Amino acid sequence: MPNQLENTAPLAQPDFLPMSRKEMDRLGWDQLDVLLVSGDAYVDHPSFGAAILGRWLVAHGYRAGIVAQPRWTMPDDLLCMGRPRLFTGVTAGAMDSMLAHYTPFRTKRHDDAYTPGGQAGRRPNRACVVYANLARQAFPKLPIVLGGIEASLRRLTHYDFWTDKLRRSILLDAKADLILYGMAERGILALANCVADILSARGEGVPPSFHAARTGARLLHVIPGVAYIGDVSDISDIHAGETPATHEGKMPSTRADIIHLPSHEEILADGRKLMDATLAMERHVHQAAAFAVQQVEGRSLILTPPSPLTTEELDELYALPFTRRPHPSYKLTVPASDMIAWSITTHRGCGGGCSFCTLAGHQGRRIRSRSAASILREAESFAAHKNFAGSISDVGGPSANMWGGRCTADASRCGRASCMFPEVCPNFQVDQMRIVELLRRVASVQGVRHVRVASGIRHDLALKDLDYLRAIVREFVGGQLKIAPEHLSEHVLTLMRKPGPEVFERFLEIFDQECAAAGKPQFVIPYLISAFPGCTLADMHHLGRWLSKRGWQPQQVQCFIPLPGTVAAAMYYAGIDPEGNPIPVARTDAQRLKMHYALVKPGS
Ligand code: SF4
Repeated sequence: MPNQLENTAPLAQPDFLPMSRKEMDRLGWDQLDVLLVSGDAYVDHPSFGAAILGRWLVAHGYRAGIVAQPRWTMPDDLLCMGRPRLFTGVTAGAMDSMLAHYTPFRTKRHDDAYTPGGQAGRRPNRACVVYANLARQAFPKLPIVLGGIEASLRRLTHYDFWTDKLRRSILLDAKADLILYGMAERGILALANCVADILSARGEGVPPSFHAARTGARLLHVIPGVAYIGDVSDISDIHAGETPATHEGKMPSTRADIIHLPSHEEILADGRKLMDATLAMERHVHQAAAFAVQQVEGRSLILTPPSPLTTEELDELYALPFTRRPHPSYKLTVPASDMIAWSITTHRGCGGGCSFCTLAGHQGRRIRSRSAASILREAESFAAHKNFAGSISDVGGPSANMWGGRCTADASRCGRASCMFPEVCPNFQVDQMRIVELLRRVASVQGVRHVRVASGIRHDLALKDLDYLRAIVREFVGGQLKIAPEHLSEHVLTLMRKPGPEVFERFLEIFDQECAAAGKPQFVIPYLISAFPGCTLADMHHLGRWLSKRGWQPQQVQCFIPLPGTVAAAMYYAGIDPEGNPIPVARTDAQRLKMHYALVKPGS
């Protein structure tokens, strides 16, 4: 058994992770242990996946370097730092590459916020597949590991909007060894330990291949949050105590559960099975207690349960010395870097479970929060930074008012699809005034002049504590507050797993009262979705009338995009709700445009 979570001695953190041999030489590194290939520019900020995983590896004794946005017609860019010792990690970047490239109407986007100068076209379509192919050419037989949102959400059979087809797991298309799905810090470290152990057992220089060596595949079942091709018999007789380590603990005498998902072929034959598979995957991530298996083309795709970081581990991670800037080799600024440079992530996960959102499949619904002390230390580090001008643009997470949220029941047995819908679950506990207290403490750090909450706040949850809402409106809204009602028709909201229209109206009433009482003219910016499955033209007209009654011009209207791996994509593809009832779906671009324009260009 490999030493899955034991660490080697930490290395000194470099100013930036190396992107060239010269930088490796300066660090005294003769070889990388792990090469990370990313579709985003390298911005040394904890919101960028390659930066956070690279620094995490270094903190645990592994030498990590980054190749960002390589040319994809030849493998040369990947060779610039030599062959890594353990594996190549591949990510498309912060977004699915198809979403990054195309609008909801499948036309090309003209910019890319994750690229120097905001230039479009610096990463290929289906970047994970293309980069994995480059890695195979550059480093034959070296394990290839996929990660990030593109690989995570495409880990099983999924609907691909851009080709209007079902696709098998991206693991097979990329011919990679495994996927580290979700937030991968624990998984990548366990994997590095595992490969290092295999190498030392077999002798340096002998490349481990998980496909070729059954021993390799067998070892993977103890790594959390992994998808790999294996043998079900390897996991069917193991016990829960041997499953990936989770901090909730397990009963070692209990046999590990296996969730058998509809096979790829069954889904191809009956699209409704995509819904069954997607709902089962949501439960798999949320309960984090079982293996999941999908048969595909005669092989078994095995998913181990995820195991998110603890508060202490998150604190350790966010204390790493990120410079918060793009790598100095870039001549042009990276727009996303400017936007988030002085923001603080307080937690991961979102209890909302909205059916269109990728978060449920990626970070999960359970909230993992940093400690207040860790967040304050990060604010203090800003104040000491020469480029910090005094404004913290955001202190939040997927939903800003879920920091510190927890389930008081046993989430590993929870069958609900959302902690917020149809109403806030009585077991979801969060002290929102603690969040206010935290924000006030951050605002009082010497050198900090403004603190804003730019992450959306979950309005149904905010209404549970009017003191919280009052404090946010008065102290931390910078003129505009983003709220995501998404729609105003009850049945569409139910399909989205969003609260009813009366909840948003009540929120607005209190928001307006508080702004008036504070003498601050402020506005809510409502985020809305057009052409959602189940939504009709009449629903879009209803939404338009509601907005015009308030004298509002719709500003943030997104035409629905069925994102891989989401329940909403299954609704769109199969034309059914989660219970299997038929629903109308605007499917063609013309139908979708008509619905979208009913709101953004009424009368056109
Ligand atoms: S019991 Fe309630 S709070 Fe706990 S995970 Fe389930 S829905 Fe969320």
